[in-house]
Amino acid sequence: MCGIVGYTGKNMAAPILLDGLAKLEYRGYDSAGVAVRNTKGKHEIVKTKGKLCKLNDMLDGGNALSGTCGIGHTRWATHGAPSEENAHPHHNDDMSIVAVHNGIIENYTDLKEKLLNKGYRFYSETDTEIATKIIDYYYRKWDKNPLQALISFTLRARGSFAIAAMFEDYPEEIFIARKDSPLIVGVTEDGSYLASDVPAILKYTRDIYYVDNLEVGRIGKGTVAFFDVDGKQRKKKPKKIDWDVEAAEKGGYAHFMLKEMHEQPAVVRDTYNAFVRNGKIDLSEGKINDGYLKGIGRIQIAACGSAYHVGVVAKYVIEELARVPVNVDVASEFRYRNPVFGKDDLLIVISQSGETADTLAALRMAKENGVKTLAVVNVLNSVIAREADKVLYTKAGPEISVATTKAYSTQLIVMYSFAIQLAMVKGSINEEKYARLIDEMSKLPEKMEKVLSEDERIKWFANRIMNKHDVFFIGRGIDYAACMEGSLKFKEISYIHSDAYAAGELKHGTISLIEQDTIVIGLVTQTALAEKTKSNLEEVKTRGACIMGVTYNGNYLIEDLSEFTVYIPSTEPCFTASLAVIPFQLLSYYVSVAKGNDVDMPRNLAKCVSVE
Ligand code: GLU
Repeated sequence: MCGIVGYTGKNMAAPILLDGLAKLEYRGYDSAGVAVRNTKGKHEIVKTKGKLCKLNDMLDGGNALSGTCGIGHTRWATHGAPSEENAHPHHNDDMSIVAVHNGIIENYTDLKEKLLNKGYRFYSETDTEIATKIIDYYYRKWDKNPLQALISFTLRARGSFAIAAMFEDYPEEIFIARKDSPLIVGVTEDGSYLASDVPAILKYTRDIYYVDNLEVGRIGKGTVAFFDVDGKQRKKKPKKIDWDVEAAEKGGYAHFMLKEMHEQPAVVRDTYNAFVRNGKIDLSEGKINDGYLKGIGRIQIAACGSAYHVGVVAKYVIEELARVPVNVDVASEFRYRNPVFGKDDLLIVISQSGETADTLAALRMAKENGVKTLAVVNVLNSVIAREADKVLYTKAGPEISVATTKAYSTQLIVMYSFAIQLAMVKGSINEEKYARLIDEMSKLPEKMEKVLSEDERIKWFANRIMNKHDVFFIGRGIDYAACMEGSLKFKEISYIHSDAYAAGELKHGTISLIEQDTIVIGLVTQTALAEKTKSNLEEVKTRGACIMGVTYNGNYLIEDLSEFTVYIPSTEPCFTASLAVIPFQLLSYYVSVAKGNDVDMPRNLAKCVSVE
């Protein structure tokens, strides 16, 4: 997590750095700072605890610092509490070297030990200060050669890093190194830019250099050179980015989350169009053909957070349609539990950012075991996308809100497409069902629009429950999987405790928490299970629960039980999560707004979890 930026060029650096950081704030927001080389050739650092707007005020929008070369950082603390001291940039003793870092230096205690023996002293609790001082140590050792210092650092440090450093002896230059954390560079006539992610520099250039793993770079005004760890220069070409700049802006909406929820029909359509051609599923973008699918004996899915919930939906859908066994695991558990791999296994990893540390580790573990891997990823060229054997990209565009909505929805479409094609190839569905499923999937965007238009009613109910302390989401089958996502969305931005339960499981313990007016949200979209879930709702109602029901048009089974019911359009049972999740997103959003929470940047979270 954390966002890093850098600029060297013809213009004043500080306003450009602050603007870039604002586009990266979704990556972390507990403290922020910049370092600029001033007109006297000295490094000036300004940093503070708190969000970027505080730094912005301190710097008068950047006008308070003059200098045309600088680096900046917005932090999500891993080592050391969020504080001014621990905020980046960090520096060596005489401030001749300053650095920002994204990632974790895992062997920081060994490195610190080494530095302490050499007489170094430390002012912060961060691994980044140690990284900066190790660079200082190698810089001196290698006769003030910054590239050599970064190469030695890259070879010595374990863990993950994207690091950008300035050296007083090298005016107007920034040196970079990367392992596992993202880093991109853009070069224009006005200067050169570096950042953790594309939105930070998209308004200056669409030609983006992706820094590779174990690569170092030297950035000057309008120039960049990349080197491998043997010091050999690498030839690299920039990649063209085709998003529009507005895709990463709020565009009139009060919050990114609201905008992204409303973008769902469009991006779901884009994702559908990418994988369906002439009425047939086409996974050739990911170089997946029927022969490949035929060879799959068992599927393992590893992912985190909402992507894990997509995996849970996918398990139901794949097993139902293709009759191929599926295991789903939270990636942080999967990677450490020594799973049993079979020779016909396929590991599917799902990640919006393509940098989720635990998911990446699961992917690497499967590869080491000779297992085939497929990644479902949103961010082009991200680490997971590059390391997996095959990749299917969601077409969600940049997602800024920390609470995911459109990435989740597009991940579902990719998984449905995969499941339908697998089912066809395995012969477990016939042509007619194949065509019906694809046709029904094409109607989801339009149906999502309809659910989104329920927002006024949902807002009313959100205001009624905003002061509650507990909310339970219950459902069976795919409804249970959608409840898991609903509950996560709800708690992460409303700060109200919530849990998702398989409706039939509640009576085995959790039902003791139900008391007068406890909110229970019942999801009933699976016709075959509707009566069963209804009985479970009766059980909680008898014990005082206040029920919100979400069900399909024409099903009035739970209307009398519920205080408030939202109807979603009917669809194939295996696609209902795509529609059911929307009332949950809207409810979570409006409770968060009513409570005055920071919807897009909820406390303690960050968008891409590139640490364990
Ligand atoms: N480990 C560094 C710190 O705690 C960087 C954190 C990150 O990239 O999330 O300051």
